[in-house]
Amino acid sequence: MATTSSKSQKYVYLFGNKKADGNGGMKPLLGGKGANLAEMTRIGLPVPPGFTITTEVCTYYYAHKKTYPKELWGAVKSAVANTEKILGKRFGDVEKPLLVAVRSGARDSMPGMMDTILNLGLNDQTVVALEKASGNPRFAWDCYRRFIQMYGDVVMGVQKSPSEDHEPFEVVIEKLKAELFPGKEHVEDTKIDVKGLKELVARFKALVKERAGQEFPTDPWEQLKGAIGAVFGSWMNDRAIVYRRKYNIPTEWGTAVNVQSMVFGNTGDKSGSGVAFTRDPASGEKVFYGEFLINAQGEDVVAGVRTPKPVAELIKIMPEAAAELERVRQTLEKHFRDVQDFEFTIEDGKVFMLQTRNGKRTGLAAIRFAVEMEKEGLITWEEAVQRVPAEQLDQVLAPVFDRAAVKATKCIARGLPAGPGAATGQIYFNADRAAEAAHRGQKVLLVRVETSPEDLRGMIAAEGILTARGGVSSHAALVARQMGKVCVCGASVLQVDYQAKQMSVGGMTLKEGDFLSIDGTVGEVYPGEIKTAPSEIIQVLIAKTLDAKESRTYQYYAQLMKWCDKATRMKVRTNADSPDQAANAIGFGAVGIGLCRTEHMFFEGNRIDAMREMILADNLDDRKKALAKLLPYQRNDFAGIFRELKGLPATIRTLDPPLHEFLPHEADAQKDLAAKMGVPIEKIQRRVKELHEFNPMLGLRGCRLGIVHPEITEMQIRAIIEAAILVQKEGIPVKPEIMIVLVGFPKELQNQLEVVNRVAQQVQEEQKTKVKYMVGTMIEVPRGALMADEIAKDAEFFSFGTNDLTQTTLGMSRDDSGPFLQPYAEAEIIKQNPFATIDQLGVGKLMEMAVALGRKTRPDIKLGICGEHGGEPSSVKFCHRIGLNYVSCSPFRVPIARLAAAQAAIEEKKAKATVKKK
Ligand code: ADP
Ligand code: MG
Ligand code: MG
Repeated sequence: MATTSSKSQKYVYLFGNKKADGNGGMKPLLGGKGANLAEMTRIGLPVPPGFTITTEVCTYYYAHKKTYPKELWGAVKSAVANTEKILGKRFGDVEKPLLVAVRSGARDSMPGMMDTILNLGLNDQTVVALEKASGNPRFAWDCYRRFIQMYGDVVMGVQKSPSEDHEPFEVVIEKLKAELFPGKEHVEDTKIDVKGLKELVARFKALVKERAGQEFPTDPWEQLKGAIGAVFGSWMNDRAIVYRRKYNIPTEWGTAVNVQSMVFGNTGDKSGSGVAFTRDPASGEKVFYGEFLINAQGEDVVAGVRTPKPVAELIKIMPEAAAELERVRQTLEKHFRDVQDFEFTIEDGKVFMLQTRNGKRTGLAAIRFAVEMEKEGLITWEEAVQRVPAEQLDQVLAPVFDRAAVKATKCIARGLPAGPGAATGQIYFNADRAAEAAHRGQKVLLVRVETSPEDLRGMIAAEGILTARGGVSSHAALVARQMGKVCVCGASVLQVDYQAKQMSVGGMTLKEGDFLSIDGTVGEVYPGEIKTAPSEIIQVLIAKTLDAKESRTYQYYAQLMKWCDKATRMKVRTNADSPDQAANAIGFGAVGIGLCRTEHMFFEGNRIDAMREMILADNLDDRKKALAKLLPYQRNDFAGIFRELKGLPATIRTLDPPLHEFLPHEADAQKDLAAKMGVPIEKIQRRVKELHEFNPMLGLRGCRLGIVHPEITEMQIRAIIEAAILVQKEGIPVKPEIMIVLVGFPKELQNQLEVVNRVAQQVQEEQKTKVKYMVGTMIEVPRGALMADEIAKDAEFFSFGTNDLTQTTLGMSRDDSGPFLQPYAEAEIIKQNPFATIDQLGVGKLMEMAVALGRKTRPDIKLGICGEHGGEPSSVKFCHRIGLNYVSCSPFRVPIARLAAAQAAIEEKKAKATVKKK
C-alpha cells in the first residue's frame, strides 16, 4: 500500500457486491450519485458494481492545466479489475466483454447538465463477443450504435451547429428509417433490425470521421480515458455554468466521475428502463409515481423520444419486477427517510438500481411530504420543518386561475400537470426570444415541442412552460419542479412549427406573441389571457373567501406554521405603510410592524400639494402652515394602522427621502404645479435646482432633514402621538416605536430625541393622557454600527436598515449596480447579490459588532432588521444567529420568514446537541 503522504491520497472509491468504500454521507467527495450508489450497495440494493473518481480529481484537473494526478490511472485500472472480478467479465475482452457507463455526478444533482456515456468498451470485436454472449445480435448492435452516438457527441464534439435544426446523429437515423420504411412516419428506433443497426454503425462512424476529422477510437482504455476527460470537461461547459449560477453552486465543488458496469434495458421485451419517485413530487400524494419504457436504455425515458408508460402498469407486464420495485420503494423511504427520485433498469426481468437522490418537489408537495411523513412517524416535527425550503412557500402562495374565468373559456389542450400554479403570458417558441421578451417586460410563456438544457435561460425568464412532448420525468418537468415554474408538459395535440413561429391547436393558430394561459396544477391549456385569483391559503387567511376546512393545502400550511411557532425564537414583523398591508401581514402571522415608511403617505390624493407647498415655502411660518395641512392626514393614517395592529408594536420611521423626490422634474409638470400653486414656474425651477444633489443617497435626507428642519419632525411626532392617544382612548392598546433614521453620530439622535420628547410631552399635556412610546434608531450607515455603544445610550432599539447599510458599506449604489453585478458574479467576486442576500462577511460583521456594542450599553435593547433582506431565508437565518429579536419583511414574505426563522432555531438546537455529544 501507499507509503508517502501524497500517494496515500485516495482518488478512487469502489462499490459492488454489498460492499463499498464510500457511503451516502460522502457527497462532497463522491458527488451525490457516487455517494448514494455506495449507500445503496451497502444496504443490499441491486446496484451494478463500479467505482467513483473523486471530486478532488476534478479540482486537481482544473488546478493543473487539465492533467491528472499521476497515480490516478493505476488506481482506475485496479478498480476496473475489481469490477471485472465481481462480474467475471473483462474490459475489452473478445469473449465476455465488460461494458461500462461513465457518469458525471456533482455534489448536488444538476439534472441533464453534464454528460453520460453508456456502453463504453465496444468496438468491432467486442460487439461480436456481446452478440455471442447474449445470443441477441440486435441488442449488441443497438448498444454499439448508441455508444458511438453518445461518445461521438460528448467526447468528440459531433453536435449540431447553430445553423442546424437537428442533432447530426438523429438526422442519420431518420434518413435510414426513411430508406427502410418508405412512406411511414414516426417509426420507433426499436423497429430497426440487426442489419439496419449495422448499417447505422457504419454511417455513424463515417459521420464521426467527417465531423471530427479522426477515426472513432477502438481501444477500450483509450475510450475510457476520453470519457473521463469529457465528464471533467463538462463541469465547465456553458450549460453547467448557467445552472451553477442559478443555484449558487460553487465552481470549486467539482464533479465526480462514476464508472459503472452496464446493465441493459434494451435486450428485448423483458427489459426496460425507468425513473420513479417514491411519492408524487407534484401533488405530494403518497402514490408510486414514475414511468418506464420497455426495451430501452435510460436516456430514452428522459429524452422524451418515445412516450413512456406509468409505473403502475408494470404490474401487468412484469409482475415480479413490479413487486421488486415496490420493495425497493419502501426500502428507500425507510432508509433515506425522505422521498426518493430513482433510476432503474430491468434486464431480462431483473431490477437494477442506477441512482437515487432526494426528490425535487414542488412547494405543495414539499409541505405535504413533510406533514404526512411526520404523521407516519418517519420523521420528527422538527425535521418536517426543515424539509420545506422556505423559498418554496412562494409557490403555494402563488396565484391560481379565477374559477369563474376558467368556466367561461374552454380548455384547448391537456398535458401532464408538471408544475403547479397558474400562468398567463405571450407565447414564444424559442428560449432566446422568450428571454428577450421577458427582458422587455413582457409576461412570457415558453412553448416548445420539448425542452433541453439549452433552453434554460428561456425557462428561467418565462412565467410558465408548455411542451408538446415528454412525460413527468422529461427535462421540462424536472426543471419546472425545481424552479417552481408553472408547467404543463406533453400536451400532444399541440402542433408546433418552429419555422413559421406558430402553433396550431384545436383548429386555432397561435402566433408568437399571442396570449395563452396554462394551469400546471391540472395540466390544462386555455386560449388568451385568464384572470388569476389568489392561492387557497390567501383565500382562507387574507381574502377570507374560503373556509379553512375546504382547503387541504391550507391545512398542510397551517400545520407547518404551527410547528414553526413552536420552534421559533425570533419574531417576524412586517414592513407596512397602510392598514391594509398591516392586516395582510397579520393574517400571515406577523406580530407587528417593523418598518412603517411615512413618505408614501404623502403621495396620495392632494396630500402631495401640501407637501410641495412645504418644500417651496420661503420661510418657517409658511412651512409650518403647509405642515399643518399634512398633520391630519398623517394622524389619520397612523390611527388606522394602530387600530389594525390592536396592540402589536409599530416601528414608524420619520421622513427619510430627499425633498426633491417630491417635486416634479419635467417642465410640463412644473408648469402645472406653478399654475396650481399660483407661483411663477421659475420659482419651482429654482427650488428644484437648489435641491439638486450630486449624490442623493448621501445627501440631505434621513435625520439630517429633521435636524435642518425640526418642524418636519415636530409635525410627524405630533401626528404619531395624537393618533396613539386617539386610538388608546377607543380602548385599543397602542405601541408606537419612533425610529430616527440614518444616524451615524450620537448627537444626531440626541438632537432628534429632544424634538420627539418635547412634542410628545406637549401632546400628552394637551390631551391630558399618557401614552407609552419608544425611541430608537435605524442602523444603516457604517458609523452608526461602529458607534453603536454610544448610540445605545439614547436608543431603546436598533433596526438594521440593511438596504442602505449594504449600499454605504460596499460603497455601491443598488440602483446603479446593474452593469457590474452580473460581471462580478461571473468573475465570482461576489457569490450572491448583496442587495438580495446579506453580505454576511462584510455587512454582517458590522451588524454583529453593532449587536454586541448595543447590548453592552443596554442589555435589553430590542434588535431587528427592516431591510429587504428580512424576507430572504439565508439572511433571516443569519439574523437569528447574531441574536436579533425580530426580522421584518413585506407582507407576502412573512410565511417564508417565519419558516426560515424556525429552521434557524432548529439548526441551532441541533448544532448545540452535537457539540454536547462531542
Ligand atoms: P444524469 O445525471 O443525467 O441522470 P446518469 O449518469 O444518471 O445521468 O445517466 C443517464 C441514464 O443512463 C440513466 O437514466 C440510466 O438509466 C442510464 N445509465 C446510467 N448508468 C447506467 C448503467 N450502469 N447501466 C445502464 N444504464 C445506465
Ligand atoms: Mg441520472
Ligand atoms: Mg434607509
